[in-house]
Amino acid sequence: MVDNDIIVAPATAMGGAIAVIRMSGDGAIECCDKVFRGKSRLVDAAPYTVHYGRVVDGERTLDDVLVSVFRAPHSYTGEDSVEISIHGSKYIASEVMSLLVRNGARMARAGEFSVRAFLAGKMDLSQAEAVADMIAADSRASHALASTQMRGGYSQSLQSLRSQLLEIASLLELELDFSEEEVEFADRARLELLLKHTESEITGLIESFRTGNAIKEGVATAIVGAPNVGKSTLLNRLVGEERAMTSDIAGTTRDTVEAHCNIDGVQFRFIDTAGIRDTDDRLERMGIERTMKAIGEARIVVQMVEAGSRGFEPVKVNDGQTLIVVANKADRSDDRSIVGAIYMSAKSGAGVDELRRRLRSTIDTERVYSGETVVSNARHYAALQRALEALERAMAALHAGVSGELLSEEIREVLRNIGEITGDVTSEDILKNIFSKFCIGK
Ligand code: GDP
Repeated sequence: MVDNDIIVAPATAMGGAIAVIRMSGDGAIECCDKVFRGKSRLVDAAPYTVHYGRVVDGERTLDDVLVSVFRAPHSYTGEDSVEISIHGSKYIASEVMSLLVRNGARMARAGEFSVRAFLAGKMDLSQAEAVADMIAADSRASHALASTQMRGGYSQSLQSLRSQLLEIASLLELELDFSEEEVEFADRARLELLLKHTESEITGLIESFRTGNAIKEGVATAIVGAPNVGKSTLLNRLVGEERAMTSDIAGTTRDTVEAHCNIDGVQFRFIDTAGIRDTDDRLERMGIERTMKAIGEARIVVQMVEAGSRGFEPVKVNDGQTLIVVANKADRSDDRSIVGAIYMSAKSGAGVDELRRRLRSTIDTERVYSGETVVSNARHYAALQRALEALERAMAALHAGVSGELLSEEIREVLRNIGEITGDVTSEDILKNIFSKFCIGK
């Protein structure tokens, strides 16, 4: 996965006034010197300085550029690196990169700069993943999550969990060395306390994923209700005012419509369920099944009824789902008989703020904004669940009076799983899986 090549890639999306080409690896500065004409050579330049000059291909000048020089080990990758700021043209970028390739560099693979940063110990795995989250962040809350993780707050709390576990494991393993003598170095009561404490920390992290994931992916909110009750009108009002994008998920004759909007720093993802009705059409049924699945997975269900209509029945929601009842068209009826419902008019906008408040109150962002550890990454969540399972096996083993050897094996398993999050324990497969999802140049 890793070699010593000089790698080059665009670091910015094309289309702006300026584009940055990034090059890293032993010899990167010399490689850049072959095509750069400035006041002096870059190899002689002090690190962390910026140099004006031209990039030339023989007699031909490709662009006027600025080159930033970084030297190992104090760079993103930990290697000698340069960043060349060119005019933001796709054509110039590709000409400059192919020139650099002809002079000894090769195009970088997806995530290769970050892999090198990780392997050089510049950041752990969860921090590298946070770089991608940081770039994708689209709300105050998702930005706060990524930012805490990228700056290492998250890693620190996992490391403290690891050291607790290491302490337990080493106590147990000390016993093994003296097994002939039947000594117990690890006081079982203290051990139980430590395990319980660790269990509650891991459980807390696992539970935080509910919020973390909702913030990162957008809080899935299904709007259900009979045709003509005003679902689309409400969606347009929620989304239109936010100038967010409305998009169709393509595929069937009656598609689920998803719309995004930001409510006070949190992104919500609305799923309009307009397409649900009895039908024999196979394609349409498939669309409906998908919508039903979306409702099943939604965190919030907004049930919309018409104010003044008879026979209100709340829809059944799953454990963990929040139901918000909205009585629409309240401008046409004085009936306010549904207890707890928000009476509103999607058409005029009256009462919509109350709905916004209610939606927003389902997401507690205090922990996120204060930089507490909140899990938002599905890979971390899965690793924590495996860690918890192993921990529970360890606790059961402790109660059953099983030997320290078996116990310590389970504790090592907990450690392994937590180590996978930060990359203390890792395999090439895990790395490939993570970094191949990065874009080129990251
Ligand atoms: P949907 O089928 O649930 O998506 O319903 P629509 O949003 O298409 O609305 C159906 C009709 O009800 C449209 O003519 C809307 O203008 C009207 N409508 C929606 N909300 C209100 C409201 O709050 N008050 C009134 N009077 N009419 C509304």
